[in-house]
Amino acid sequence: MVQHQRAIETLRDKGHRLTPQRMLVLSIVAGGDGHMGVDEVFRRSKEAYPYMDIATVYRTLHLFKDLGVVTEVAIGDRLHYELTDPSGKHHHMVCRVCNGAFNLSPHYLEEFRTTLVRDFDFEPDLEHFAITGICSKCRADNTANDQDH
Ligand SMILES: [Zn+2]
Ligand SMILES: [Zn+2]
Repeated sequence: MVQHQRAIETLRDKGHRLTPQRMLVLSIVAGGDGHMGVDEVFRRSKEAYPYMDIATVYRTLHLFKDLGVVTEVAIGDRLHYELTDPSGKHHHMVCRVCNGAFNLSPHYLEEFRTTLVRDFDFEPDLEHFAITGICSKCRADNTANDQDH
């Protein structure tokens, strides 16, 4: 968990106390599959620490976001959080069936960016770009259902 360790150092370097609640939220975000909604962070932190309240979860996530430790990603109409990707930004593919989010490395969109700049002189903000669709697992489920009928 190198990223997790780096996040802890960033907090400490910037003079923020490493409270148990902060450590907990950080480890939950770090231990997730990468993209976690506030409700999920809250549910998991309550399991580990019953006195946790949602306001603390929000405050902690916003602090982490301000410090650049955590990145906020809009998936559908909800915000998700993930540890900031040290290798740079990635984009997201979001499944509209299961709401799963999958990382998409920036090089897939470089050509798209170049095309928009060349043809329209338009510089797109692709940082928050998410492509919706159906993930491979849901596609497989769908195919299985079709075969039943
Ligand atoms: Zn899916
Ligand atoms: Zn991501």
